[in-house]
Amino acid sequence: MKTGQHILIVEDEPKIRDGLRDFLEFHEFRVECVDDGLAAERRVAEHRFDLILLDLMLPHISGEQLCLKWRQAGLRMPILMLTAKGQEKEKIAGLDLGADDYITKPFSLEELLARIRAVLRRTDPNRSVGQTFAFGPFAVDMERLTLRYNDDTAALTRRQAMMLQLFAANPGRIVTRQELYESAWNESLEGIETRTIDMHIARLRDLLEQAGGKTDLIQTVRGEGYRYDVS
Ligand code: CA
Repeated sequence: MKTGQHILIVEDEPKIRDGLRDFLEFHEFRVECVDDGLAAERRVAEHRFDLILLDLMLPHISGEQLCLKWRQAGLRMPILMLTAKGQEKEKIAGLDLGADDYITKPFSLEELLARIRAVLRRTDPNRSVGQTFAFGPFAVDMERLTLRYNDDTAALTRRQAMMLQLFAANPGRIVTRQELYESAWNESLEGIETRTIDMHIARLRDLLEQAGGKTDLIQTVRGEGYRYDVS
């Protein structure tokens, strides 16, 4: 039985779909295929995939609409978009759909594999700190979205938990507002006020203070961003 990461292929072209399935299975991934947007939406609602290979032009719901819908719903699984020649990468990237990467057909399978591995490496939230991790004297649980201190537990929003995760993965390093935004909002900072990030950080500090009284864990680095002070 295959124990590899689970990939959903959303592609309506049988030849491409079958070729991708064979290739990825050969490389020890577990693969599931659907051939239209509605089926993809249904499967993703039922199951957590490690990565989605998403064709752009699909029957019923386009890859572009799916990607937007999922991101708006707060789903953060890695998405690698398959785009056809002529739908230039820049143009699609400009749409800011929230995909993690794009590859243009026809592509070499080796290149696709490299991209898949890179996306999985980049987006694996467990790689650096895990589902539960320490943040100063607190224990953060990404599954339950809780912040624990001694015997007290406080609720976190997903964004707060993601910001804490980013800090915990980068102890002592300056984390920029852009990085925080990309990590917790899964979008690029363009067009939003940096003040929004600052407000969220202020709320996060309040929460830490209420939960355990330690407030200096997240330090402001003027003009740069924030730093998780582990000392
Ligand atoms: Ca297609």
